[in-house]
Amino acid sequence: MSVTIKMENVKKSFSRFEALRNVDLEIQSGEILGLLGPSGAGKSTIIKILTGQLDPSSGTVMIFGESSEQVKQSKTRKRFGVLTDNSGLYKRLSIEENLKMYCDLYDLPVSALDEALEFVNLVSSKKKKVSELSRGMMQRVTLARAILHKPELLFLDEPTSALDPVNTHHIHEGLRKLNARGTTILLTTHDMYEAEALCHRVAFLHEGEIRESGSPEELKDAYRNDVIEVELTCGESHELPVNQVATMDKMREWAAAQRIRRVHSNEPTLGDLFMRVTGGELS
Ligand code: ADP
Repeated sequence: MSVTIKMENVKKSFSRFEALRNVDLEIQSGEILGLLGPSGAGKSTIIKILTGQLDPSSGTVMIFGESSEQVKQSKTRKRFGVLTDNSGLYKRLSIEENLKMYCDLYDLPVSALDEALEFVNLVSSKKKKVSELSRGMMQRVTLARAILHKPELLFLDEPTSALDPVNTHHIHEGLRKLNARGTTILLTTHDMYEAEALCHRVAFLHEGEIRESGSPEELKDAYRNDVIEVELTCGESHELPVNQVATMDKMREWAAAQRIRRVHSNEPTLGDLFMRVTGGELS
């Protein structure tokens, strides 16, 4: 695997306010990495720096082995796609007409249009006017637009924020299919379920710093608290340490008296871990 994105010691200040402090981040090709953090953590600022919309105050940023300065000027820009929330779609035109304009603009074959719509499950709706679409469907069109040119790398800033479950599902499915085709994906989210469902690795961003990173499984393993919770039929609930003879004796005793209602493994969620690592909440 090669490194697609590398950020080292990246800082970004707005006047005196430090939005990013010493961000180190590496993304391997073929990975889906989720930047997980609450509003104001610095997620969009990272995406803006990586996509050349903002310059870092200091530190180095490399994309496909090129510096961010080179990326701004070179053909490398064509190797990535960006999805942000400002859709910029023409409401009076159909989905197809909107995307066709982009195909013309970027010299892409019209076949790219159906292929991109396939990813977000919108081929059958392509004649619909954008003005008739729900916010979620518009977001799917925006995603289709971002992948028309088959980018190797895709940046998504809060791709499903405030969308209903059906549209969220279509977007997630599209992203999984794109990733299976080899697309590297960096997405930002404050939704721990989204991070867990989609990402090979997550990075916890808190007050402009990456405080922890790893696969959801690795993180859960590293921070698991090794207790099980046993709920009894009388309504009592007990936390017992795992792998202890005394725990097994107690369980045997309760089981013999048919007193066990439920046993929970107490596996932490990514939200629990975020709070334990950063002391802050995700939203
Ligand atoms: P997130 O995407 O995680 O919600 P942002 O990256 O948008 O966070 O913002 C991080 C912090 O930087 C916030 O406190 C925000 O107010 C501040 N910030 C972002 N952009 C600017 C800007 N252009 N000028 C001043 N402050 C900014």
